Amino acid sequence: MREADQKFPKFSPPSPFQLEATGDRAKPSATFLHQRTISGVKTFNYGKNLNILSFYLKHFCKTLLCLPEPMKQTCLSRFLLLLASLLALGSGSAMAFSTVVIDPGHGGADLGAADSYVYEKHINLDVARRLERSLKEAGFKTIMTRSRDEFIALSERSSMANRQRNAIFVSVHFNSSYRTAALGIETFYRSSNSEKLAQAVQRELIKNTRATDRGVKTANFAVLRETKHPSVLVEGGFVSNKEERSAMCDPIYRQVVADSIARAVVQFSR
Ligand SMILES: [Zn+2]
Repeated sequence: MREADQKFPKFSPPSPFQLEATGDRAKPSATFLHQRTISGVKTFNYGKNLNILSFYLKHFCKTLLCLPEPMKQTCLSRFLLLLASLLALGSGSAMAFSTVVIDPGHGGADLGAADSYVYEKHINLDVARRLERSLKEAGFKTIMTRSRDEFIALSERSSMANRQRNAIFVSVHFNSSYRTAALGIETFYRSSNSEKLAQAVQRELIKNTRATDRGVKTANFAVLRETKHPSVLVEGGFVSNKEERSAMCDPIYRQVVADSIARAVVQFSR
């Protein structure tokens, strides 16, 4: 047993870590795998504590069948874990998520930014609805923290996101400043697992709207702090700026903002 064992380099998987082998008659205890037997791999990230890798086998291979059961187990699990780690390293920051929690900022008595009868809460909800449609078309499950003009506490918004297993969180806002000349789009994140998402969102928004690029920034906003999933907060222009205010009153602009965010989400999912 020792001899066969030594063929497999020692590897300490992130703990807890779970592997799942699927395929034709594939039972991990009786299947010897080498790279050519694997037709595909899917990773599922269920938050910090559990990663599952599913291997899809091309055919059943009997090399290990003649070995005693404990050795099969050892060889196979070592090999799978090694392969899993290599694949995880190779895929960089790509993470599997199926759900996007969309958070239209403010609502109800909380108007958000307001100027000349344009209320941020309405613009946020409209963009969020457009984003919801685009993401559904792209195959994501979506959750809206509010679907109508109502007040939802910040903590409840994060709780809704945290109840999801593998998700990301996108909060939609528009900006305001006492300086009416202030303009442009900015995207906020808080933890490092959200930085790439924030960069993708900002890049797509600037490319498609041609708005002034205020950049990607970190902030300790409650919804970003309390949400355990990758989360970003988009400020899609200034309600207090005359030109940007009239842009956001145009449904075409709101669609462009929504589609840009959706594209970034798709990029982040790859
Ligand atoms: Zn806001």
